[in-house]
Amino acid sequence: MHKVVAVANQKGGVGKTTTSVNLAACLAGEDCRVLLLDLDPQGNATSGVGIDRHECTTSIYDGLVGTTPLRDLVMSTETKGLDLIPSTTDLAGAEVELVDQPDREFQLRYALSDFEEEYDFILMDCPPSLGLLTLNALAAANTVLVPIQTEYYALEGLGHLLQTIELIHEHLNPALTLEGILLTMYDGRTNLSEQVASEVSTHFGELVFNTIIPRNVRLGEAPSFGMPITAYAKSSRGARSYQDFAREFLKRNGRVDLPASA
Ligand code: ADP
Ligand code: MG
Repeated sequence: MHKVVAVANQKGGVGKTTTSVNLAACLAGEDCRVLLLDLDPQGNATSGVGIDRHECTTSIYDGLVGTTPLRDLVMSTETKGLDLIPSTTDLAGAEVELVDQPDREFQLRYALSDFEEEYDFILMDCPPSLGLLTLNALAAANTVLVPIQTEYYALEGLGHLLQTIELIHEHLNPALTLEGILLTMYDGRTNLSEQVASEVSTHFGELVFNTIIPRNVRLGEAPSFGMPITAYAKSSRGARSYQDFAREFLKRNGRVDLPASA
C-alpha cells in the first residue's frame, strides 16, 4: 500500500513545490514508485517535471469533482519511476464548485480509496493557502511534510498550520500525523539562517529532519527547464541535499540502507 504525504504550508515561496518535485524524483532514484499529485492551480509541480499543462486535457480537477477515476489521470514523466497527476487552471474553480458538496473535504480521499495503482509514495504538492484544496489533501493524507524557509519569519503562521493539522486530526482524519519539518533555502553565509535553524530545532526537536536544504542557484533554475534537480544538475549541492533528504525520509519510513554492492 502506498503512503500518502501532503507537502503543505499556507505560506507561499517556502519550497513546497521544489520539495515535492525533488523529493519525488529522488525517491524514484532510490527505486521507489512515486506519484506526484499537483494540487496547486498554479501548476508549478506539473511544469517542474516537464509536463506542459496547456497540453493536458484532464487534471486532478476531474478527480476531485468525481468525473474521472484517478487511474485515468496519471501521466508518466521523463523521470523513471515518477508519474504525475497534473494540475490545470480548472483547478482554481474546484474550490468554489466543491463548496456546496456535503463531503467537500473528502473528495480526494474518496477518489484515492479506489485507486489501486501500485506506488510506494504519493506526494501531494499543496497550494499556499488553507482552503479546500489543502483540506482535501490533509483529509486524504497519512502524513504532512512541512517545508519551512530558513528566514526571519519562519515560525510565523506555523502555529496556525499546526492548529489546522490538529483540527483535521480531530474531525476529518484521525490517522493523520506529521511526517516532519524540512528546513529549506538555508543560507550558510548568514548568522540568521543558523539562528532560525536552531530556533526551529528547539521548538520541534525530533520532528525536524537532520537534512537541511541549502539555498542553491541550480535548484532555482531547474523548474524553468522542466527538470527535477537530479536531471538538471545532478552533482550540484541542491541535488545532493535532496538525495540526502530522500534517504533520510526513507530511513524514517523504515527502509534500511542496503550496502552499495547489494
Ligand atoms: P512554494 O511551492 O512553497 O510556493 P517554491 O518551491 O515554488 O515554493 O519556491 C519558491 C521559489 O524559490 C521558486 O522560485 C523556487 O525555484 C525557489 N527555490 C526553492 N527552493 C530553493 C532553494 N533551496 N534554493 C534556491 N531557490 C529555491
Ligand atoms: Mg508551490
